[in-house]
Amino acid sequence: MVEIRDLHKSFGNLEVLKGIDFKVERGQVICVIGPSGSGKSTLLRCVNLLEQPTKGQVFVEGVELTHRDIDIDAARRRIGMVFQQFNLFPHLSVLANITIAQRRVLKRGKAEAERTARANLAKVGLEEKAGSYPAQLSGGQQQRAAIARALAMDPDLMLFDEPTSALDPELVGDVLTVMRKLAQDGMTMLVVTHEMAFAREVADKVVFMDDGMIVEEGPPAQIIGDPQHERTKLFLRRVL
Ligand code: ATP
Ligand code: MG
Repeated sequence: MVEIRDLHKSFGNLEVLKGIDFKVERGQVICVIGPSGSGKSTLLRCVNLLEQPTKGQVFVEGVELTHRDIDIDAARRRIGMVFQQFNLFPHLSVLANITIAQRRVLKRGKAEAERTARANLAKVGLEEKAGSYPAQLSGGQQQRAAIARALAMDPDLMLFDEPTSALDPELVGDVLTVMRKLAQDGMTMLVVTHEMAFAREVADKVVFMDDGMIVEEGPPAQIIGDPQHERTKLFLRRVL
């Protein structure tokens, strides 16, 4: 479903990704963990070409997104992304936040876009907030609305970049519950997170990154429960 081959990314002289290879199979949940500055966000942003890799290839559903002839907007449409800062449009209602890209990008009619929006709001437990504005919602509700917005585009793949780290602790659970349900429903997910309990429970594979490289990867019980590398052990001692 997703394959990354020898991915490199530099910003000027700073080499942030130093050759990343991995695969995500359809329906899998991969959690990426690692210290601040290790390149996790950059990796995610390279997967949907928000950043142009310096070298290497990204394939999604067999299509090479890094190919120079690719219609990147069309390819990106299949990939949903949820950020740490929810990035909702503040001047639009929740419903309008969720219909705008459906209408502009997918050219859906108003009725269909609203139907899809409401169905996805129901999925994240926010059906009664369709008419509210982002500022009227809690952080956890805003993040769930952002998830509904991404889902309304019918993505093949969802990218999450620390979706709960900007939230007050008591709001984290609701967002993780939504993500857990999404995983159970078979969504393919690549999740950067510091929520080790979530990774342990939901991930098919955990990838530990440090300094622009994958240090080790494997089932959560192995990587979180029985890490082999000193750097992984050190990181986990800090976050667990
Ligand atoms: P965190 O856990 O703090 O979110 P991260 O693992 O997501 O960290 P990245 O955001 O990918 O790390 O950043 C990796 C490195 O790349 C950092 O040193 C960062 O300063 C640098 N970097 C990221 N984006 C840019 C940019 N647009 N221009 C220059 N340097 C950048
Ligand atoms: Mg980051």
